[in-house]
Amino acid sequence: MQFNKIIGQESVKAHLIDTVKSKRISHAQLFLGPAGCGSLPLSIAYAQYILCSNKLDSDACGNCPSCLKVAKFSHPDLHFSFPIHLLKSTRTSDDVFVEWKKQLETTMYFSLQDWYRTLGNDNKQGTIGTDESQRIVKKISLKSFEGGYKILIMWMPEQMNNQAANKLLKIIEEPPKNTLFLLVSQNQENIISTILSRTQLVKIPRLKEKELSDYLVQQYGLSVEDADTYAHLSEGNVSLALSLIDDKESASFNLDNFIKWMRLCYTRNIGETIDWVDIIASAGREAQKNFIVFALGMFRQSIVGHYADTDLVILTSAQRQFLEKFSPFINHKNIVVLTELLNDAHYHLERNANPKILFLDVSLKVFAYLKRK
Ligand SMILES: [Zn+2]
Repeated sequence: MQFNKIIGQESVKAHLIDTVKSKRISHAQLFLGPAGCGSLPLSIAYAQYILCSNKLDSDACGNCPSCLKVAKFSHPDLHFSFPIHLLKSTRTSDDVFVEWKKQLETTMYFSLQDWYRTLGNDNKQGTIGTDESQRIVKKISLKSFEGGYKILIMWMPEQMNNQAANKLLKIIEEPPKNTLFLLVSQNQENIISTILSRTQLVKIPRLKEKELSDYLVQQYGLSVEDADTYAHLSEGNVSLALSLIDDKESASFNLDNFIKWMRLCYTRNIGETIDWVDIIASAGREAQKNFIVFALGMFRQSIVGHYADTDLVILTSAQRQFLEKFSPFINHKNIVVLTELLNDAHYHLERNANPKILFLDVSLKVFAYLKRK
């Protein structure tokens, strides 16, 4: 990650570059900024700049062996530490490094929740525990492989428990030579004070909406108008803007498919239903589960008698017309069985049911239930 790939934050970049040029790199720094402002990519770019063997005036070269290793997250002197879901087999960051790499390769602008989702459970909080601190002390005490700095980037030190933090105090206070700790945090208040007092603060501001909007136009091909809307809705939070864009795509997918599906079900068109099942079956399990949840919501809205525009999808008049004509088909006689049917479908999708068989079976039942007027 070079500085030039990072959105905005010019004055922070200038400050970081200056610490290297003037040889005033303080050995423990706290990068503190709100979610989605780019603290993590900045810390990685800073590490790359320090490790680069062919530094340019205001960026790492991007081509030297060291830069290439950082780009692949395989530099032996650059270590990462981050919250994980503690399990018997998962004790330290090393145990889920493959997932971490995958996350960084997807985007470096991600939230804690994005990360927990990558780990497979976004309902569970992660921890930086004592096994992790032990691992850090061990790694940092080793000699540097390439003769320069050894750098540890710890993302979300606020997720570290007190015991783990206490184990790190000494090494942060008296680190071996040429060691650098970069703590990347969103919430200073949750970091224990003894760690805080040992770090130098690097404040990272929220991104300007204009900076984020320009980025969304360039990188994601959004229209200026859409990009401005997302930048504004997310208040300059890059990871939030990206997830809103994702949500909008899946909301249109769900609405389109819901309308198609219900039309097929009430015309009882078995041939085209089979074609539709093929499409939904190829969408991936998460998308299928989302679709079911969406359909449940639409059934509920039919009973209430009106369809609300969500924040993300404005119903077109054709869609609204369809739904208005359709809503009488959902009524007190069938809402219970339909709800049960979809809840069951969700349950079985989670347990890896074959989606083709499942969606066809559910469709045939909906054929019958829609007739109970
Ligand atoms: Zn380089």
